[in-house]
Amino acid sequence: MKTSLKILEKYNLVKTQARLDILDIFTEKSAALSEGEIEDSLCGSCDRATIYRTLNLFTLKGILHEIANGSTIRKYTLKKKPERHLHFECNLCGEIVCLTGISLPDYRLPEGFTEQEAHFLIKGICKACYEA
Ligand SMILES: [Zn+2]
Ligand SMILES: [Zn+2]
Repeated sequence: MKTSLKILEKYNLVKTQARLDILDIFTEKSAALSEGEIEDSLCGSCDRATIYRTLNLFTLKGILHEIANGSTIRKYTLKKKPERHLHFECNLCGEIVCLTGISLPDYRLPEGFTEQEAHFLIKGICKACYEA
């Protein structure tokens, strides 16, 4: 069975062509994708509102995770383990990848501080750009 179909079944979501098409893009590409990039990959088979709703649904369900890079363009990838991990953003091609193999420093916030979200982003030049 296709990975995308398995994911929808696992999360008890109704199988629609749009959901499958969007998941296909994520299962094929490891770099994070923005709404616009997904729209381009779908070649007009899906309207913007559907893409927007689907991305929100997938994020809410924990299928996708949203990566904050300090810009207003949100990017998404399939949720990775461990949930807290570093991200790398290339300054040349703009690709963002999850670096799940690197452990994060174990930190403790001062008393009285509550963490709500944390973004671990490293910016630089990716391997493909470096070798080009
Ligand atoms: Zn690059
Ligand atoms: Zn990630």
